[in-house]
Parts: sequence; C-alpha cells; structure tokens
Amino acid sequence: MREHSQVTITDLHPADRLPRAGQAAAHSGLDALLISPGADLRYLTGYNALPLERLTCLVLPTDGEPFLVVPELERAAAHASPAGSLGIEITGWAETEDPYALIAARLPRRTACVGVDNHMWAEKTIAFRTALPAVRQVLAGTVLNALRIRKTPAEAEALRRAGAAIDRVHARMGDWLRPGRTEREVGRDIADAIIAEGHVRTDFVIVGSGPHSASPHHELSDRVIRRGDPVVVDIGGTTEDGYCSDSTRNYVLGEPPPAYLRLHEVLLAAQRRQTDAVRPGITAGQLDSVGRDLITEAGFGPHFIHRTGHGIGLESHEEPYITTGSALPLEPGMAFSVEPGIYLPGRYGARIEDIVICTDEGGERLNLTSRELVLLP
Ligand code: ZN
Ligand code: ZN
Repeated sequence: MREHSQVTITDLHPADRLPRAGQAAAHSGLDALLISPGADLRYLTGYNALPLERLTCLVLPTDGEPFLVVPELERAAAHASPAGSLGIEITGWAETEDPYALIAARLPRRTACVGVDNHMWAEKTIAFRTALPAVRQVLAGTVLNALRIRKTPAEAEALRRAGAAIDRVHARMGDWLRPGRTEREVGRDIADAIIAEGHVRTDFVIVGSGPHSASPHHELSDRVIRRGDPVVVDIGGTTEDGYCSDSTRNYVLGEPPPAYLRLHEVLLAAQRRQTDAVRPGITAGQLDSVGRDLITEAGFGPHFIHRTGHGIGLESHEEPYITTGSALPLEPGMAFSVEPGIYLPGRYGARIEDIVICTDEGGERLNLTSRELVLLP
C-alpha cells in the first residue's frame, strides 16, 4: 500500500498563484482576467463557488489588486473558503445592483483587453461585453492553462489520492458485476462505492457490456449482463479537494470469446508501451504513435477511434491532450490519461486507462490495479 501524506489547503492553493497568474496575463498583453466559478477560480483561490445565475467573478487586474465580486448572499461562503485567507478584497453586490457595471467602473480606465474564463456562461460574457463595449475579450485559458498544465507536488499528491480511491472501486468489481444483473444496477453500486471510497462526486460511470463495450462513451442501460460478455468499466469522480480520478479496466464474466482475448492482449501491449514511454521531451503526438502503431500493425488501426488521452486535474478533461500529431513536448508535472481502445462495432471492444504523471525519471502511474483482463465467475 502506498502511504499518502496529508496535503494541506495552503499547499494546494499557495498565495503566490494570483501574482503569478497576473504576471502571465500581463506578459500576454492582457489588462485583467475575469474568472467565474469553476476550475480556474478554484485553482487561483481555492474557492469552490456555486455556478449561479447571479454573477460571482474574480477580477485580477494586471496593474492593481485582485478582488472577488460575489452576490451578497454568497459573501459568508466566500470568506469561509480558502479565498478568505488570501487577503484579497471580497465585495458583495446587492440584488438591485448591476455587478457588471460595478466591475467595469473599477477596472483601470486604459483597459483594452480582458481574459474571460473559458467556462464563463455566455450570458455573463455578453453582459461584460455590454458593460465594457470598447474592451476586447480573449480566453483566459490562453494564460491559465500554461500554469495549470504543470502540477505542483501537492497537486500530484492530490491526484495520487484520487487514483488510489478509484483503484479501490475497481478492486471491488467482483462484488457487483454478475450475470443476470443490468448495467444500470451494477452502475448504481459503483456510483455508491465511488463516494464511499473517497470522492465527493461521481463524475461518470460507464458499464459497457457485450456489444455496448464497442461504444466508448456508452454509459448505462437496462441490458442484462450475460455469461461470456466482455464488460468495459470506465469510472471517475472528484475528491474533496477538487482533483479527479479516471480509470478503465476490462472484465469478462466466465469464458471470454477467443478473438476478444487477442484484442485485449494487443491493447495491453500498446498501453504498456505508452505508459513506459512517458518521459520529459517526448511529444504528445509521439506518445500517441507509440501505441497507435502497435495497434495498427496488429490490424486494429481503424478501430482505435479516439486520441490516446487527456490531461486531468481540477477537471477530468483538461490540457494536455495526447493526440495524433501534437507537437507539445511533455514536461515534469504534466498529468494525463493513457487510454487506448479497440472497438469492433456490433461485437465488443476494450479500453485500458491509467492516469500518468510525467516526472524527471519517466511516467508515474497513478492507477495500480492489474491491467490484465479480469475474469469473474
Ligand atoms: Zn475514463
Ligand atoms: Zn479518461
């Protein structure tokens, strides 16, 4: 068993994050960042704000002090969050006030370009456009993604704990996956276990049995799982500190179809080769090829119908994306999934997925349950 040291809130949300984001924004020629509830706000301040119709917005001027504007009724919650100990001003706006005008009036007069949170609701983005008609809007992600893409040691530890939590759910699969049960029944048990094993939210539960295993994003149905069915189980959740898990394993109830065994063998060889190839300097595109070439040589190339993986952190899908042709060089601290899949429509499919962190020494896998096909009675 891996021992997990305790990660404190201050480790996860160091106070230098706001000044660093401000410097990066200035470097990109922006005058301010406007950050609404979501992963960016949590990354910058630790505040896990509710996304509401009322505006909550962190304003980070590149020339001036940051401030957080929240609906008056959310002010106590904002103060109680880690944002409350950052020493930034938290301003409440009353129900009859216009928070967009309030922010527009406080931005420096010479403001020409702002970075808007990638996930800001369109109604809020457009309201800012109305309040700041002469100001150009660009995506804040052009600045923030470059920071978020490299995890700090505390973030890596949080992802390790998330990985261990989802591993404990896969380890219990034999309790639930049995012939005669429906995918939905099994999925309900898995969702409960995701919470019980250390998450605060279930993000997705995929139980693709028999022919459903050939559809990568099949979720759950009322199909009754039968003896001899291959089953893809791809599950993930969010832990209390906001970091996500995501892992896929393949199960067969009873005797597997002989041709499926070969498919899984090829897939496992490809996924192993890819996780072993992770190191600083290899590009995301090269990492994709390392597995895709092996799958293609085995004759399954047209059946590997998606990219190799996606970054993971405060969002279960974020940069870097491990995609064919990507010239992005991997760097220590980057965390992403390695999840090749082979899908034969109408028959069956499989996917093997681990989260991997790139370190100076190579890839560190965060999912440590066996990647072999799991045969259940
Ligand atoms: Zn997954
Ligand atoms: Zn994934």
